[in-house]
Order: sequence, then structure tokens, then C-alpha cells
Amino acid sequence: MEQALQFNIGGIKCDNDTCDYRDDSVKVEDYDKWLNKPCPKCSTNLLTEADYNNVQMLLQTAQMINSLTSEQLEALTGNIDNDEIVQMSIEMNGTGKMEFKH
Ligand SMILES: [Zn+2]
Repeated sequence: MEQALQFNIGGIKCDNDTCDYRDDSVKVEDYDKWLNKPCPKCSTNLLTEADYNNVQMLLQTAQMINSLTSEQLEALTGNIDNDEIVQMSIEMNGTGKMEFKH
């Protein structure tokens, strides 16, 4: 069975609107190395603790959901079509708020 929930989290981008620094090669496993690191261009905090905590929470949620049996999932999701792939992107801007976009 394919994983019920998959997150494609990765990359680091500067939260400063006037700065275009980003590094898409950063992996989510390495986010702890980026915690509270200053942007090389403008020294804005690249990954705040609030954003980092959110990412960890998302990963834990995904892990929890993916550990459920298909029966448990069905009970949880009701009549949602299991074959439907839901894709969304999550925007974070350093404030700890998450914006989900389809
Ligand atoms: Zn910057």
C-alpha cells in the first residue's frame, strides 16, 4: 500500500520579503542544522523555532497516519476516496503560522 500521507518538505528560503535567498537542496532531515541560522545575504533568521516545530509536528502526524491500518484509515476518513492523491504546499514565514495551499 502506498503511504496515505506524504509530505514533500525541503528547501530553505529567507523570510525577508526583500531578500531572494533560497536553497532548495536542503533536506528536511537536516533542518536541525539550520535552526536559527542567519541568512548569508541579509542575516534574517532562516528557520525559526516556530517553523521548525511545525515541520516536526507535520512529520509526526504523517508518521502516525501512515502507521494506521487501512481499516483504521477508513474509519477515520469515512467516504474519502483512498485513491485520491491530495497535493498541497505549505508556506511558512517564520511566524509559526502555516498556510496550506492546494
Ligand atoms: Zn535573506
